[in-house]
Amino acid sequence: MNKIIEKAKLTHELTKDEILMLLENDNINEELFKAADYIREKYLGNVVNLRGLIEFTNICKRNCMYCGLRRDNKNLKRYRLTEDEIFDFASKAVNYGYKTIVLQGGEDDYFDVDKMTNIVKKIKSLGVALTLSLGEKTYEEYKAFKAAGADRYLIRIETTDKQLYTAMDPGMSFENRLECLDNLRKLGYEVGTGILVGLPNQTLDSIANDILFFKEIDADMIGIGPFIPNADTPLKDAEGGNLTLSLKVMAITRLILPDINIPATTAMESLAPNGRIKALQSGANVVMPNVTEGEYRKLYALYPGKICTGDTPSHCRGCITGKITAIGRSISDGYGFRGNSNVNSHDC
Ligand code: SAH
Ligand code: SF4
Repeated sequence: MNKIIEKAKLTHELTKDEILMLLENDNINEELFKAADYIREKYLGNVVNLRGLIEFTNICKRNCMYCGLRRDNKNLKRYRLTEDEIFDFASKAVNYGYKTIVLQGGEDDYFDVDKMTNIVKKIKSLGVALTLSLGEKTYEEYKAFKAAGADRYLIRIETTDKQLYTAMDPGMSFENRLECLDNLRKLGYEVGTGILVGLPNQTLDSIANDILFFKEIDADMIGIGPFIPNADTPLKDAEGGNLTLSLKVMAITRLILPDINIPATTAMESLAPNGRIKALQSGANVVMPNVTEGEYRKLYALYPGKICTGDTPSHCRGCITGKITAIGRSISDGYGFRGNSNVNSHDC
């Protein structure tokens, strides 16, 4: 088992059987986390990149089985921010020192190409990097957002098990999800994807395939989150994912994609009070604090127990900075593109 971890540290290649062995064996977890931490340090140095997250609409035309924003959930008060509110939150985030803004939302057709390109241009005028996470759009739409200045796009594949994907995302097509990732890459975005860990009927075998998929498409960012059952969805009685397996998937991903951006996800912290710190010490190098204000934070209810919904953006900025410096890391002052770090040379 040690040999597999050593091989991954040196070559950043693993076979499916090797990944499976790491996933199946819980005796090597601490060693795996340490190895991922070492590789993160070697390639990306000591710094943590912060992204200011604006959750700009909780209205969604999709019906993903796991998600509280799904259209059939009638128990949720819906909102969409105005363009002015979005710009206001983004401007404040820049004042707090964020160098990247992430705009995330449900698939809300109110925000058509004209509206979105306007918003993108306005945020880009603040001199920040901009990541979009608005789900599936056409090639032309992605192209228009890119032309307006968007730099990155996050769209999780959720699972590469086509049968599971089809069961989890009714009415959506796995092939189209793949095509979205392909189109984003062709258009020159930094492309982020990822999975949910602990979906019903998800196997370790399929998770091993997911990790190989990240490598195959050479993703620039990978977000791994435990699935947390939401009482307002059909999966309310499901077991859900656990933090340890999510961290293992993340750590293996770091070993085979050494220079990419990997967030310590909010869902990890929602499962354990120090989940994000443990993630930062197991391969992650990014945190995405929420910069949305007021009651919207509660209403962006993907899953229950979401952290910091009663806090303000300025509190979150201070809180996360304190936690990061307490583990001997510092906040990056760069834009945080892939491979960007305070390390000048490495033997890749
Ligand atoms: N609508 C866009 C972006 C918003 S959803 C999209 O779907 O791509 C962002 C992410 O939230 C999803 O990719 C999914 O992985 C995650 N998510 C949704 N429901 C969740 C749950 N119950 N537990 C954990 N993560 C969840
Ligand atoms: Fe909508 Fe995204 Fe939730 Fe699916 S995961 S219901 S697309 S917000």
